[in-house]
Amino acid sequence: MTNQIVPTITPSNINELFQCAKRFHQLRVMRDWPQNGKMSASAQTGIAAHRVLRDVYEPANIKGDQPDLSKLDLLARVATASQSIEPGQRPVVEANIRDLVRFYVNNDDLEDVEGTLGVEVEGRFTVADANGAAFFMVQAKLDRVLVRASQPTILVVRDYKTSHNKPRRDLYEALIQLWVAKLLYPGYAEYLLELDHITLDGIERQTVTSKELKRLSSIVVAQVRRFLADPTFPPTRSEGCHFCPLKEACWQDEPGTTVEALESAFD
Ligand code: SF4
Repeated sequence: MTNQIVPTITPSNINELFQCAKRFHQLRVMRDWPQNGKMSASAQTGIAAHRVLRDVYEPANIKGDQPDLSKLDLLARVATASQSIEPGQRPVVEANIRDLVRFYVNNDDLEDVEGTLGVEVEGRFTVADANGAAFFMVQAKLDRVLVRASQPTILVVRDYKTSHNKPRRDLYEALIQLWVAKLLYPGYAEYLLELDHITLDGIERQTVTSKELKRLSSIVVAQVRRFLADPTFPPTRSEGCHFCPLKEACWQDEPGTTVEALESAFD
């Protein structure tokens, strides 16, 4: 039995691997999270909206050539009820989700609906080093996977974003999603991530192709090696500290100063 740490890398934690070894180790490897409150209302709404999109695009539920929206009311109600959203807010959230999903489906391409292979497809793979030992794990849940009849050699991963702010086009997050897509569905000539930002004002699509990611694979592998090489997992201060759940405890270790030093700081 080995005590070797095997980090799991996901689209949501890959950037932390580059920012701070202490944070990545404590939160993502040891899964030691401080208790600090509830998930935000917008995050819960996003989870509920993803759940409804999953249900309407489930290939088994597609009747004819369009997703069946006849149960949209029920799906939005069930998805909202599964989140801890204030009861008084639920009708508003349900209505938002219904409008958003209907808008998205009505604007979706028929070819994309017909080409849907799966929804919320999850993959988790062990990556071995040259000696065959587990080096790290790679894991992702893909919102939707499709292949267009007109482009049969390209596997498309659709990632829904429902936050108010436009999401960043993040190549590292894309890499992890497309790594997992390639491992789940090998044999395609190209892999394409489509990041759909869905609001009632419109659907904005950003794309990342696997061809753009060639150099990034070895950069991530090198960063994993760097992370594992220093078992003290030292903290690294950055702008990411502002959003770090460990900040309060971590910054207590910061060396202090004295009243006298501040009083004479600019003398
Ligand atoms: S507060 Fe900053 S330095 Fe400390 S663990 Fe978090 S990211 Fe790292």
